[in-house]
Amino acid sequence: MLRHGAITRERSSSVSSSFVDAPTPRCHCGVTSPIRIAWRCDYSSRRFYGCSGYGTSRKCSFFQWYDPEPPARYSDVIRRLLERNECIRSENTELKKTRQELLDELRRLQQSVHETRAELEAAAAASTTMEDHMLASVAATRRRGVVIIVLISVIVLLVFFSDRSR
Ligand SMILES: [Zn+2]
Repeated sequence: MLRHGAITRERSSSVSSSFVDAPTPRCHCGVTSPIRIAWRCDYSSRRFYGCSGYGTSRKCSFFQWYDPEPPARYSDVIRRLLERNECIRSENTELKKTRQELLDELRRLQQSVHETRAELEAAAAASTTMEDHMLASVAATRRRGVVIIVLISVIVLLVFFSDRSR
């Protein structure tokens, strides 16, 4: 299959080949065929005439090579480069996946830190409340002590004065 994005339109005059000198063929639709580039491994960027309706619903099966058959060595190099390119592409995909996983992990850790901080703040608030209660309790106990001492003093004075008045 030919990659849709690899389509080019060119009327090169720099290629000194008998293919170039030949008149531009018309496809089965009767329209002048544009030159395209094949990117499939087997054809390795070899140019060809195809239907002008390529990539649309209006297309025929017309096909004719524009470039002569390349030397085997050339095809081999191109094939290896395409394979290497495929390798790099899959490595890139893996790296993107790893990056996404790391980002997800980072997000989870940030969430965890956020929750722990909230728990610590709640514990600190609870501690402060407890301390306030304890201080209030101590103050209340102290007040009760003072009242008891005053009452005892009054009783002692009453007893003392009642003894003296006899
Ligand atoms: Zn056609």
